Amino acid sequence: MTAMRNVPFFEYPRLWSDDKENLLKIIDEVSSTGGFILQQAVLDFEKKLADYTTSKYSVGVGNATDAMEIYLEAIGINPNDEIIISSHTMLATASAIKVSGGIPVPVDIGDDNLICPEAIEDAISENTVGIMPTQLNGRTCNMDKINEIALKNNLFIIEDAAQALGSKFKDRHAGTFGLASCISFFPAKVLGCLGDAGGVLTQDEELFHKIYQIHDHGRDVDGEVKRWGRNSRIDNIQAAILLDKFKTYDKVILRRREIAQMYQDQLQSVEQIKLPPAPNSNPDHFDVFQNYEFEAENRNDLKEFLSQNGIGTLVQWGGKGVHQFKNLGFNQHLPKTEEFFKKCIMIPMNVFISNSDVEYICDKIIQFYN
Ligand SMILES: *Cc1c(COP(=O)(O)O)cnc(C)c1O
Repeated sequence: MTAMRNVPFFEYPRLWSDDKENLLKIIDEVSSTGGFILQQAVLDFEKKLADYTTSKYSVGVGNATDAMEIYLEAIGINPNDEIIISSHTMLATASAIKVSGGIPVPVDIGDDNLICPEAIEDAISENTVGIMPTQLNGRTCNMDKINEIALKNNLFIIEDAAQALGSKFKDRHAGTFGLASCISFFPAKVLGCLGDAGGVLTQDEELFHKIYQIHDHGRDVDGEVKRWGRNSRIDNIQAAILLDKFKTYDKVILRRREIAQMYQDQLQSVEQIKLPPAPNSNPDHFDVFQNYEFEAENRNDLKEFLSQNGIGTLVQWGGKGVHQFKNLGFNQHLPKTEEFFKKCIMIPMNVFISNSDVEYICDKIIQFYN
């Protein structure tokens, strides 16, 4: 028997304690200049975010949900406009569409647990205006198929890439496939700050200006008011922290992929679980492993067993797909998504865990099924 360990699902305090001196210095630097809002750190961060994702434009905003609401407003959604989303996503994807006046239409997942292209085609109606795939768990959907459907039916694509900074499909970055996309910098995201923050990416100059205006009281980059807007700006302190974190971000991705490979190697022979694709299993996909989520038989018992052994796990979003939030008016049956949510579980996936933590987690999962 291995000794008991404590492996929390995500240790939020370590975002601070592991890097405290450096973070204090950054906060001091920004604060000393008095440049808290829309100053140099934000400009530098937006440039970095755009360059990193090979996007033409980026705008730092309050959070990724705001990002989606803002680009939907910029695109212009009419009442009854339907936008097709995966039911396997955060409710935020749907709520952003709702808030912007449109109708979110959740559809089922495919074998990869991401939005199913055939299900998209089945859901297209005369009111459909767009598709909003979620690049979930740090994996980008097969965008060839989704692009084809969008082109054929004259629909726009917008992405929820909140979880997918650095993820690629056929060497193209998540967030660069459609009109616009969002990235989240929520603390537990692959690139997390010390609070809420988000980014919008777009390749379109006109849309960029609209998005910029909406996020800052209608003012454009030159300060002139061009339309009605709101306030959803990224703080300079968070921008400066994220800029600093970008320096090591490729290493973070590498480490996450290394952990995913260790999980793969040690758990692939467990028949009762279905793992996500291994990091190098398909050259079309470069995954950043925002989460390590798999399907497990006896999921609830496994979760309890791991918890008794000091291992934190998460059943995402309360164990429900978007269409299962009946209180919000959904009345649909999406069998694959519902089946998935009965079995899914996430085990720790972050740079705070050690190789021996990974081994311990795998040992306990194997022990549970023996
Ligand atoms: C985290 C997340 C969001 C929301 O991001 P916030 O920055 O917290 O608003 C939206 N969609 C997905 C898929 C997410 O994981």
